[in-house]
Amino acid sequence: MATIIDGKKVAEEVLAECAGEIAELKEAGITPGLAVVLVGEDPASQVYVNSKVRKCAELGIHSEKIVLSKEATQEEVLETVQRLNADPAIHGILVQSPPPPQIHEEEIVRAIEPAKDVDGFHPENVAKLALEDSTGFVPCTPAGCMRLLKAAGVETSGAEAVVVGRSMIVGKPMALLLMARGSDATVTVAHSRTKDLAAVCRRADIIVAAVGIAEFIGADFVKEGATIIDVGINRVEDASAKRGYRLCGDVAFDEVLEKAGAVTPVPGGVGPMTIAMLMKNTIKAAKALG
Ligand code: NAD
Repeated sequence: MATIIDGKKVAEEVLAECAGEIAELKEAGITPGLAVVLVGEDPASQVYVNSKVRKCAELGIHSEKIVLSKEATQEEVLETVQRLNADPAIHGILVQSPPPPQIHEEEIVRAIEPAKDVDGFHPENVAKLALEDSTGFVPCTPAGCMRLLKAAGVETSGAEAVVVGRSMIVGKPMALLLMARGSDATVTVAHSRTKDLAAVCRRADIIVAAVGIAEFIGADFVKEGATIIDVGINRVEDASAKRGYRLCGDVAFDEVLEKAGAVTPVPGGVGPMTIAMLMKNTIKAAKALG
């Protein structure tokens, strides 16, 4: 029976570290500030943005929530980013993904001042991650996954790690972090074109599932004793649930529980870590920018 890795508890530890660092910054006359830009009305994005703003308030981080209409133009979003780039009270800027279709997301990300890019999506920060230059910002979700592995005492050095998914937000940076010096895993990145994915995953000591398909990774993908980090957040219709849906991961949790050594739950696994690492990145930005 697998150990359940408690993401909420590890996130609380990270947030406790953040509280100490914020107190020190405030003593030095600096209040960290985070701006969260939401374009449109995507319901999941609204939930994410609100929980980020709420976490800032709990910690005493100054936050600004900017909501632009779903008809907002590229110029409006760019002007907002430029205003925030120039605002000394704001140390971190993020534009919640995905924006509406008329918005060219890549151009928006490139407009964010790299020193304020707390999501770690700007090409300068992507390059710094690849170069193992610790002055950059690491994307929050994979950074949170690494912290979970550490907290669970999982040995990454020499381990076979399979990352399922190759997105710029999760899969790719996750693979870079696992293979970096100090982590030293042997990394395979699987994706939608991978042949015999179950066999590839069965080689893994560590599986990171970032596919976006509910309960996709079943027990037949799992080697006895493997550690499974489930990044997926999927809404599945459920008439018995209050909201009419329930959240589930990319991993068939109940099924893999019998076989895995350790597994993260959804909710309560990677999700809380993502927000905690965002707070960490905001503090890092505030320390560097002053
Ligand atoms: P994405 O859609 O950008 O990428 C999905 C990846 O899965 C792609 O690289 C694709 O090649 C791969 N894939 C798709 N079908 C596949 C298949 N049949 N076999 C193998 N690989 C397949 O998604 P993303 O942004 O990387 O997010 C992945 C999941 O993680 C989503 O459920 C998302 O909601 C969730 N997510 C969670 C957090 C968090 O904080 N917990 C943060 C970001 C994303």
